[in-house]
Amino acid sequence: MTVLQSRKLAEVCYDIRGPVLSEAQRLEREGHRILKLNIGNPAPFGFEAPEGILADVVAALPGSQGYCDSQGLVSARRAVVQYHQGKGVEGIDVDDVYLGNGVSELIVMALQALLDDGDEVLIPAPDYPLWTAATSLAGGRPVHYRCDEASGWQPDLDDLAAKIGPRTRAIVVINPNNPTGAVYGLPVLEGMVELARTHGLVLFSDEIYDQILYDDAQHVATASLAPDVLCLTFNGLSKAYRLAGFRSGWLVVSGPTRGAASYIEGLTVLANMRLCANVPAQHAVATALGGEHGLESLVLPGGRLREQRDTALALLEQIPGVSCTRPQGALYLFPRLDPAVYPIKDDQQLVLELLREQHLLLVQGTGFNWPDPDHLRIVTLPHVDDLTDAIGRLAVFLEARR
Ligand code: PLP
Repeated sequence: MTVLQSRKLAEVCYDIRGPVLSEAQRLEREGHRILKLNIGNPAPFGFEAPEGILADVVAALPGSQGYCDSQGLVSARRAVVQYHQGKGVEGIDVDDVYLGNGVSELIVMALQALLDDGDEVLIPAPDYPLWTAATSLAGGRPVHYRCDEASGWQPDLDDLAAKIGPRTRAIVVINPNNPTGAVYGLPVLEGMVELARTHGLVLFSDEIYDQILYDDAQHVATASLAPDVLCLTFNGLSKAYRLAGFRSGWLVVSGPTRGAASYIEGLTVLANMRLCANVPAQHAVATALGGEHGLESLVLPGGRLREQRDTALALLEQIPGVSCTRPQGALYLFPRLDPAVYPIKDDQQLVLELLREQHLLLVQGTGFNWPDPDHLRIVTLPHVDDLTDAIGRLAVFLEARR
């Protein structure tokens, strides 16, 4: 019997855990040790969650045996409201918050509830590829607007404006950005909000790295600039609180919700259908947002994340033909391999060869919907020794290809 996947999946692609990871797992089964710099998962690299959060979840476990409200525990939603009010988002209350099993689940729900077949969503290139995959799964058409490497990977507003058409429904903002580490300046964000306002588009703002900032970068919440535009802000515990395995995230709906009653009803139907998010993990939310996250000591000078970013960046830039914009936030580097030095045709193939020859796992730039095969993404979570080892292996690999 042959069982085919649905046609809905024809355009759905998520390369971070795709064919390259399968090959790494095959090599591991053969007994090789692979240096994996492919996933932004803090815990395996020795980053632990603040103890108080874990203690509260353990204490709440016996009382977490039942389903809760589909939108989430009120205590968690109250903390989310306060957090976003603190970032200047106005006019929100607990009814505007949806807890999910990670931001990932909520991204899928937000797009499923909005899109009809052929509707378009403007998504940055490069992007966190779930946005593109979830748009396609929902029957929509991802349209990528370019972020400009020469301007520190800020979105190109002219390109964004030029790509708005009659079927465009929403603009996705990923700030701080994965994979580039860009933190968007106020004029760029205001420009994006203005385009959404003028064309009646929904703003989806993925702010999961909003607290992982370097070099005095400031994060501005998109929704704080858009009280008159429907905005869905996404955030969660996976990164800043090092709790990716808890699968705990939320979305906040802000702006003129009355005109969006039908869409919000759709979101609620989808939230009801999956009953509720993991309840024990929801008990982490209020403690996390109300307390100390221990991030300052990681991102300030001398902090582990900051040192790792700086070391990796310096080592990369010593490789001939490699350049990299200095990330202002998040957990990644997105170096460019000069096509004049490395004439790469297929960057997935390149990453597979790197894996087989050097036992180093990175992700190819096209996996982030970057159109040209000239970038790689490197996770900066490993200790300096491992990062030094990894970039050394990359240098040896590239040396043979010049
Ligand atoms: N959004 C961005 C930009 C991410 O980088 C990630 C994970 O890497 C997610 C969302 C998914 O987050 P979660 O673990 O909450 O599902």
